[in-house]
Amino acid sequence: MIVTRPRDWALVRAQLADLHAKRVFIMGCGQCATVTETGGEKEVLAAKARLEQEGVEVTGWSIGEVACHASGQRLEVRKHFGEFSSADAVLVLACGAGVQTTADVTDKPVTPGLDSLFLGTVVRHGVFEERCQMCGECVLDRTAGICPVTTCPKGLLNGPCGGMWNGMCEVLRDRECVHVRIRERLAAQGRAVSAVPLPPKDHSKKLKPGSIDMRAGRKKSRHGGA
Ligand code: SF4
Ligand code: SF4
Repeated sequence: MIVTRPRDWALVRAQLADLHAKRVFIMGCGQCATVTETGGEKEVLAAKARLEQEGVEVTGWSIGEVACHASGQRLEVRKHFGEFSSADAVLVLACGAGVQTTADVTDKPVTPGLDSLFLGTVVRHGVFEERCQMCGECVLDRTAGICPVTTCPKGLLNGPCGGMWNGMCEVLRDRECVHVRIRERLAAQGRAVSAVPLPPKDHSKKLKPGSIDMRAGRKKSRHGGA
């Protein structure tokens, strides 16, 4: 999931002031931002109450199933057409993709209420860890399902580095070295580290902007997919 955190409220208010927004529509996200408790119903209603307290009219609010889905967001705009039309701006409590998707489906100025941090895992309630940098060339098959690109602070593929001490990471001293964890998990599964080191990452696999069309007969992608 995309992990987000609330943007500094003073900044959000400055963004709305820049847009001369006296009437605001608020959109949340029913997926990641709901799980991270940054853009679900509770947070949308809290933002609504705060804006109203501060003299801003909230024309309405909605939480679509997933804010980064263009058709879904289009549907939300249609469902709330009147409330949308009367707003000067739209405050989106979703990740950057959700904000951009919303901006694509409305002619209203759209402004973010969250900051997007990383693609990660819910380790337990309220605790999230980054797990993937979407490098376009996954090595998890070789690393027992542990991503060295993301979870080793140095991004080493074939570590451990010389700073590892007693199995612990030299950068994040309270954590086990990722490469020790990889070796331990491989061993527990009766597997060995491959004698052939992983090659350096091919950064051309992570072209920006990413774009892919998975529909039948149109499977070509900028990422070299079939
Ligand atoms: S190797 Fe690349 S694609 Fe695979 S989990 Fe790590 S960053 Fe993500
Ligand atoms: S000790 Fe291990 S996890 Fe930490 S930086 Fe070195 S190789 Fe990466």
